[in-house]
Amino acid sequence: WAADLGQVDPQDIWRKDRDHFVHPWTHFDSFKQDGSLVMDRAEGAYVTDISGKRYLDGIGGLWCVNAGYGRKEIVEAIAAQAMRMPFYNPFVDTTNVPAAELSAKLASLAPGDLNKVFYTCGGSTANDTAVRIAHYYHARRGKKSKMHVISRIDAYHGSTYLTGSITGRPGDRSPYLNFLDGWIHHVSSPNFYRSEKARQEDMSEAEFCDHLVQELEDKILEIGADNVACFFAEPIMGAGGVIVPPPGYHARTLEVCKRHDVLYISDEVVTAFGRLGHFFASKDVFGIEPDMIVTAKGLTSGYQPLGACIFSDRIYDAMSAPDPDGWFTNGYTYSGHPVACAAALANIALMERDDICGHVRKMGPYLEKKLNELLDLPIVGQVRGKHFMMCVENVADKATREHLPDAANIGKRISDHCERLGLIVRPLGALNVISPPLTLTEPQIDELVGILRK
Ligand code: PLP
Repeated sequence: WAADLGQVDPQDIWRKDRDHFVHPWTHFDSFKQDGSLVMDRAEGAYVTDISGKRYLDGIGGLWCVNAGYGRKEIVEAIAAQAMRMPFYNPFVDTTNVPAAELSAKLASLAPGDLNKVFYTCGGSTANDTAVRIAHYYHARRGKKSKMHVISRIDAYHGSTYLTGSITGRPGDRSPYLNFLDGWIHHVSSPNFYRSEKARQEDMSEAEFCDHLVQELEDKILEIGADNVACFFAEPIMGAGGVIVPPPGYHARTLEVCKRHDVLYISDEVVTAFGRLGHFFASKDVFGIEPDMIVTAKGLTSGYQPLGACIFSDRIYDAMSAPDPDGWFTNGYTYSGHPVACAAALANIALMERDDICGHVRKMGPYLEKKLNELLDLPIVGQVRGKHFMMCVENVADKATREHLPDAANIGKRISDHCERLGLIVRPLGALNVISPPLTLTEPQIDELVGILRK
């Protein structure tokens, strides 16, 4: 098939796509009318569509092409492993070299005693597995009733039946889908800028944080600590609108969880592998050692699908204590896929060699500063995020924070216009999200922000 690359008819591909490929998160009316932009090639921080038009990729594929496009080292590792052995099953009796190597590497990079790794095919399945690990862990300690899950409004944790229910973005609650609501609970979003309660009660950010911490504890007590398995939190919420929690929030919510024997699951599908300037943000940015870290995306820089749930020795020891019924009946054919693990190892090696985390720590503040300059525009209400995980919130009135009349579409109108000008940014209702490859240079940041300003 690869031999045909470059010899395709763009219209034919566009039509085949529209007629046969059902995309994630499809809004059918608009998809049927517009179809999709067919992306075809990529190099560095740029993608080129099938008609030859080139764009600066302001979203890194989808918060994931951290090392940038065209990385020969990763591609060669993939090819070499596929040729040597593309697959062998990982079901206990057999394993493979890249999976073993990658597990040891992740254990060395992850904080504290997070030394055990369970592989999946992406972020949703890794979060799904995290819940099953939490249930299994508690049950093995004689606490089978601890099965309820607490998450937050605006959280995004995936799209399996379970993780779609743990997700808390109101817009994802399609009236035509069902959700597992009986044992999944949502506490408030840590969005200080948009909190009605903080506004009405004239709270400071510190008081808002007190309120959130208290709310979590109240929720645990309401359900009964004996019934709560785990709390899910992204260090910075991504798809919910790049929401940075108030200072101290993670440490204090972790402390509440510890006190009630509730596992703290840090969903680092977006924030890990350099986006915030470190391999993992939980410890190095927010100072916490959670019980589990879930990751995917930047783990392979998107070159192969791979997710991982990294969890503590303490959890593993309880799960694996001698017991004839001790089967952890969870896993996938492609858990620890050798080609995906080889891609991750090559990706991590090049991130270390080129000190990509250091580059983000240096360039991240520059991106933040340039985006903050957009606050002089009448519709830019807030610029938020950290380093290479940013967003711009568009409003009608900066003082009242009132939304524009077409708030649901303004992000899309702006990103459509950026697209015409050669930049991809992601629309999220009234927001535009910026999560570029981590290799972005100063001139490329100027180009990105310059187009966004237009
Ligand atoms: N968790 C977070 C924080 C995410 O942003 C995403 C995807 O965007 C997921 C989980 C789901 O990952 P995947 O789409 O690889 O299943």
